[in-house]
Amino acid sequence: MRVALPVPVDRLFDYALDDDGPLVGRRVRVAFGGQKLVGLIVPEDLRTGDEPALARSLSPVEEVLDEEPAVSEQLIRVLADEASAIFCPIGLAIAHGLPPGSAPRMARPWALTTRGERALAQGALGAGALGGDARPILTRLAEGPATLPALVRALPGVAVARRLESLVRDDLVERRSERKPARARVPTVRIARALPGLDLEQIASTLLVRATAQASLLRRIAAHPGGISTTALAHGDPQVPATLRALVRRQLALIEIRPSFAATEAFLASDKEGERVDLTEDQQQALEPIRDAIKRQLPARFLLHGVTGSGKTEVYLQAIAEALAAGRQALVLVPEITLTHQIVARLRGRFGDEVAVLHSGLKPGERLAQWERLRSRQTAIAVGARSALFAPLEALGLVVIDEEHDGAYKNEEGFRYHARDLAERRAAQASCPLVLGSATPSLESRYRAEQGELRRLSLPRRVGGRPLPAVEIVDLAKEKAKNPRGRKLILSRPLRSAIHETLAAGGQTILFLNRRGFSTRIFCFQCGHAERCHDCDVALVFHASEHALRCHYCGGTRAVPEVCSGCGDPETSLLGVGTERLEEEVRALFPGARTLRLDRDTSARRGHTEKVLRALRDEEVEIVIGTQMVAKGHDFPGVQLVGVVAADLGLHLPDFRAAERTFQLLTQVAGRAGRSTRPGRVVVQTFVPDHYALIPVATHDFETFYRAELGHRRALGYPPFGELARIVVSAEEEREALAAAELLATAARNATPAHKVEILGPAPAPIARLRRRFRFMLLLKSADAASLRPACEAVVEASRKLPRTVQAGLDARPVHML
Ligand code: ADP
Ligand code: ZN
Repeated sequence: MRVALPVPVDRLFDYALDDDGPLVGRRVRVAFGGQKLVGLIVPEDLRTGDEPALARSLSPVEEVLDEEPAVSEQLIRVLADEASAIFCPIGLAIAHGLPPGSAPRMARPWALTTRGERALAQGALGAGALGGDARPILTRLAEGPATLPALVRALPGVAVARRLESLVRDDLVERRSERKPARARVPTVRIARALPGLDLEQIASTLLVRATAQASLLRRIAAHPGGISTTALAHGDPQVPATLRALVRRQLALIEIRPSFAATEAFLASDKEGERVDLTEDQQQALEPIRDAIKRQLPARFLLHGVTGSGKTEVYLQAIAEALAAGRQALVLVPEITLTHQIVARLRGRFGDEVAVLHSGLKPGERLAQWERLRSRQTAIAVGARSALFAPLEALGLVVIDEEHDGAYKNEEGFRYHARDLAERRAAQASCPLVLGSATPSLESRYRAEQGELRRLSLPRRVGGRPLPAVEIVDLAKEKAKNPRGRKLILSRPLRSAIHETLAAGGQTILFLNRRGFSTRIFCFQCGHAERCHDCDVALVFHASEHALRCHYCGGTRAVPEVCSGCGDPETSLLGVGTERLEEEVRALFPGARTLRLDRDTSARRGHTEKVLRALRDEEVEIVIGTQMVAKGHDFPGVQLVGVVAADLGLHLPDFRAAERTFQLLTQVAGRAGRSTRPGRVVVQTFVPDHYALIPVATHDFETFYRAELGHRRALGYPPFGELARIVVSAEEEREALAAAELLATAARNATPAHKVEILGPAPAPIARLRRRFRFMLLLKSADAASLRPACEAVVEASRKLPRTVQAGLDARPVHML
């Protein structure tokens, strides 16, 4: 029996099991290196090359934990293939397919044998070995089986363990095996409902004439025909539960127990979306080939490239409807579920209970419940962030990846898969179409479309002939030169007047600043010294609310120094801006405007994100200051102006995708403006107005940016013109980390001819120190994946032999270079 175990060794393991039925996909408990592990039975042929162990040396499977497969064979194969492609130990990858919550457990309680029951009934325990404290044990077990700890607790002063032994010898007691359900239990709510068809007035004036509390509670319950949760009903009133019980006793009310998805439902319930709309000509043309592929169950791949507001979501919705009509299920991936309430709300508005929302905020039980509904096909649509890829969808008919360019689709730990790649494998395995949607496709996807690997469907116009917003680029250097001794303002004159005009016109403004905290760093005007984190070697950020410096990598905080630690100047000055500082300035400049801030700091407050998004939607706020949380995928009709406060912040990161990310982000932010009937306007502030990633933002010209960036990538051999693998080696001792990195570099060098694979480094990683560990980076670069493979394998092999104090991780196809 081949078993995948969640261990960082890239192989499968063999265990012996008498039962040779079809067991693939079931969990088993096995002994592994002195501990018990839960593994998954996989197909015998899953991976060739792991030579099977000799049959007689196999240790046995201790227990099969599932009656039905927990993971489908298709999903096991998809995960195994991806694991192999990105050099992840196979068992770690397969573990991602397991249902949430723990595996079913076995309980081994003690119970009476038939003989024991008879003996107890006949009272034949008076004498000999059966006397003394045997009786309380048997009496307790007559109530039902119990575990040893339960018996010990119930019978203080009785030597239970020793006594049980003799009772087993006398065949009065036996040990049983019982399967317990998975620990992740479905959370429930208690819903009170009035019995249907009651005549309330008559009951109140007859039956309940003296029980006024019951009468009024019954009225309250009856006001909610769909039922009301008992918690909401009680609302802190301690009398209510008793009154409710009385109503239930009188058979006037009843209590139902329903699974609760409170966390997901609360916000969404308030959103409703209209019925299916008539598609525009462009949308119809985009939908047609997708619909055709759904009907014919073809593993076709599409790139739905549509400008912001062009109606991509509507195309998804109608494609999903097609899949459902064909009796199949749909998987919709969004970059971050908390930022994409809108698409969830639209899915729910259109498909109601057919939608299972999977996100990390769910409790394991809620998640398990969603999985069960998908597995049993009670629910046809799964929507979620990248982990929704592992949902049990046996009848997959369509996979949609919204905002496919988003970096959040890359998993950065353990199984470092890219959701796009894994989704493509799932779609191919299920033989269904894959739709990648974006206004700013990743360079890779756009290039694949050019190569014919994806079919490009284009929506070049906004719905209803609405114009794309007018974009104005403001040169901050020039603005500052005009006003050298003025107050250090964050908002330039053109942006300030645009806000004034928007306020006057009754429109909403979003001010976008991709930085949180009061000031991006603390910086001395005398010597140029900047405060850095001692552990992480990155600039610290000043947080006004705590009056402290904080490291955004390790989270550590430090007091603000009295004097500059570089030159001792007492006038240490703050440079750069954060959302808090921006908020202060906005409140000072526009005191009458209703202003809200949305960033990671404020969104930590429960419900704050929803509050801001709702205020935007209902036009109850005039200015919203935010980080990228406001940039993604939202559709707010009242937003007329988007101000980008510091467009260059992301351009200077040590990452070859910095330009691409900046272009994408700015285009997405600009796309938030003017989405309904009123035209939109965008003001972008920057010190580098001539940068090739900024100019095409102003003209909404993806193709121009794409061509320019493609040229850079080609010249440097970066993706899509080459394959990269990134290796980070870290250790507390700098020398040890460097030596290990050099060892891995040598291993890679020996495995491949120099002209096939270029080896860069080892060099200090862009974040040279993180959590007290020195980090070195090694880049392997090759024109094609096939040549890169032996080098990566050699690195993985060599890293297994490194001392325990060194950590090495290989990221095949890296997305983030920090
Ligand atoms: P995208 O996903 O491309 O940003 P959306 O699907 O959100 O675009 O569409 C933008 C707006 O246009 C939404 O308010 C949507 O309801 C509306 N819309 C989309 N398609 C149509 C259509 N065919 N007719 C009318 N309105 C539409
Ligand atoms: Zn730090």
